[in-house]
Amino acid sequence: MVPVIALVGRPNVGKSTLFNRLTKTRDAIVAEYAGLTRDRQYGEAKWQGRTYIVIDTGGISGDEEGIDAKMAGQSLQAIEEADAVLFMVDSRAGLTVADQMIAEHLRKRNKRTFLIANKVDTVDPEIARAEFSPLAIGDALPIAAAHGRGIQAMLEAALGIFPKDGDAEQEDEEPVVTEGEEPRRVPGPSEKDGIKIAIIGRPNVGKSTLVNRMLGEERVIVYDQAGTTRDSIYIPFERNEEKYTLIDTAGVRRRGKIFEAVEKFSVVKTLQAIQDANVVIFVMDAREGVVEHDLNLLGFVLETGRALVIALNKWDGMEPGQRDYVKTELERRLLFAHFADIHFISALHGTGVGHLYKSVQAAFASAVTRWPTNRLTQILEDAVQEHQPPLVNGRRIKLRYAHLGGANPPLIVIHGNQVDTVPKSYTRYLENTYRRVLKLVGTPIRIEYKGGE
Ligand code: GDP
Ligand code: GDP
Repeated sequence: MVPVIALVGRPNVGKSTLFNRLTKTRDAIVAEYAGLTRDRQYGEAKWQGRTYIVIDTGGISGDEEGIDAKMAGQSLQAIEEADAVLFMVDSRAGLTVADQMIAEHLRKRNKRTFLIANKVDTVDPEIARAEFSPLAIGDALPIAAAHGRGIQAMLEAALGIFPKDGDAEQEDEEPVVTEGEEPRRVPGPSEKDGIKIAIIGRPNVGKSTLVNRMLGEERVIVYDQAGTTRDSIYIPFERNEEKYTLIDTAGVRRRGKIFEAVEKFSVVKTLQAIQDANVVIFVMDAREGVVEHDLNLLGFVLETGRALVIALNKWDGMEPGQRDYVKTELERRLLFAHFADIHFISALHGTGVGHLYKSVQAAFASAVTRWPTNRLTQILEDAVQEHQPPLVNGRRIKLRYAHLGGANPPLIVIHGNQVDTVPKSYTRYLENTYRRVLKLVGTPIRIEYKGGE
């Protein structure tokens, strides 16, 4: 499970500065994205082979009606669900009453908490440490978020205990290795779990109805997990002799023959389920159309690179005019997820639900197939032949060969000269070419360049 780190502290201590630094250190693609809720930001970050989720919980000033009131709701939930809390204080400002109130709250919660003294570029770290020792949350770790100082030691303390990505599972998987690179694990359908599918969506879009529907007729292999608020439930089952595991974020519980939802929506749980899945079935409510919250969640799915199938639920009983409107709206607003199949379903009546499996299988196959180097290189050569990369300062960019660097999403590593100058439009052209020739559906593709030789 992907660890979750919550940043907590009063306003202006440097939480968003740290958040931005952590989420930007990810080596590839976009890391920052809009918050899922107004006063909260969620981001994906990577440190030494470990992917983690970082939450900026918004400022707690202590001026409000008691600290508990302010920390209630999503903020409190985020802290509860975090594996570790980074409690940030401001070395320049020194110890404040608000810091003490937050510390008191955190001590009561009994969480793995690290005291982080930020802005030590302005104060001697030893003085900062002494200043904050009355908080009794252990020795402060000195950092300067704005300058990147002390970040490694801080992450070592907070994340060092977690295994690297993929270490826990796929032990038997043969990693994709290329010269001079750290091997990346390629997720495949493990014997035990089959394809891991996460059912994701806002509250009330019909997730638990869909889970019920998908499991209703299938053979559920084991089902004895008692989920906690924080953990999703993993339900292995078989369908047409194919193995799957549903990652259920809606908190569906079995009651005799039916399943019922007993838990509320949780952002952290949703983000973790996305990370852990091979394929995400993203559920939206056709009657409400595409709303902002859908787009934010979808943004996160894209950021993780998981394979994606979109389900427009509650399609039953809709007027033809309404249907046309929703379809047009989808085309316009979901351009950024153009690679995903869209299904119009009714979880309530079961219409269209069976068809989801075909898209799930196709997306999964596209996401994890191991394309050989010569195939990827041939496609590159043909693409270059058809459209030369542009001249930069009178010299032509040379792209020599390509190989697979990872899966789910497929990562295509292209080696060549002057690769720093490849324009975005050319990368998009290559991406589209690979997608077309390899007939990839339901998964994003990532392209990375390696220069030098
Ligand atoms: P937040 O309200 O806790 O999210 O705090 P911000 O990240 O917005 O930072 C508040 C102010 O502190 C901004 O003006 C930052 O530029 C500044 N700041 C953040 N980190 C550092 C640091 O390491 N050193 C110094 N000197 N200033 C910092
Ligand atoms: P969740 O919060 O996403 O798990 O949503 P639920 O599965 O609890 O569904 C929320 C509400 O939408 C319930 O009242 C369901 O009966 C209803 N609902 C779910 N799927 C459909 C559907 O396909 N059509 C219609 N008309 N209602 C549905």
